Amino acid sequence: MAWMDGKSMLLHAYKHRYGVGAFSAQNAEMVKGIIEAAEEEQAPVMIQIGQKAITHLGLEPLKEMVVQYAQGATVPIAIHLDHSRSYTQTMRAIQLGFQSVMFDGSSRSFEENVRITRLVAEAGHALGIGVEGEIGKIGGVEDDIDVSESEATITTTEEALAFSEQTGIDYIAVSIGTAHGLYTKEPNLRIARLKEIVASIDKPVVLHGGSGVPDAQVKEAIASGVAKINVDTELRQAVSQAMQARWTKEPNNLVLADVLQDGIEAMKHVVKHKIRTFGSDRKSSFML
Ligand SMILES: [Zn+2]
Repeated sequence: MAWMDGKSMLLHAYKHRYGVGAFSAQNAEMVKGIIEAAEEEQAPVMIQIGQKAITHLGLEPLKEMVVQYAQGATVPIAIHLDHSRSYTQTMRAIQLGFQSVMFDGSSRSFEENVRITRLVAEAGHALGIGVEGEIGKIGGVEDDIDVSESEATITTTEEALAFSEQTGIDYIAVSIGTAHGLYTKEPNLRIARLKEIVASIDKPVVLHGGSGVPDAQVKEAIASGVAKINVDTELRQAVSQAMQARWTKEPNNLVLADVLQDGIEAMKHVVKHKIRTFGSDRKSSFML
């Protein structure tokens, strides 16, 4: 078993300027496929459990599913709780043995966000778990969270620094021009702002809405201090499109396991491409 806490994993990536893929899984096949792809690339990896999956399958079964498929894995793995808006749920994940959690208080006032995120960070630190917080509103739709384009705001360096210092979080999600979901036009990352934030807080930055951002921009962001890149939409897109293609050819194929496997093979290509783009391929042996 190769569990690694999120903080150690991301500090290594931050220091050596590569990015760890945080891949969202919604079912057992996705969990298995992400781990296989990471092993084939010898890459450290985070498996993200998001709110939609939790609503459907439950926090504990999802966590157990990852544990089962990670058995015998030879790469560092961290289970990460994505976008929790509940203190109770975040604590429950810590209790269940997640290696990394995100409390997302970005829809609350700055003071409330700081207050709750700090409580999570204190618990995480006591137990050696990595804690992520978010400051600034990232646009788009993710699970049940919908932030319109006009509501999305670019994080200022001042608020990032104040938030980082007052909460004590290990890594920080900021809004620098990405959005959750599918892009309607090509995103334009605010690299100058990212550099300013990293120079001021000196902590790994998390890039949300990583699906559909051109590789060159992602690489620039990683060179500037992004150490965790969330990938969700592109994985579900790969799975769904491959399954649709199979059913278009064979509308009566009811062997769900086979059709799902097409989806997972397509997803694995995406995961492996991301790992190489992020530069985390062949990094596992340096960490363990
Ligand atoms: Zn996100």
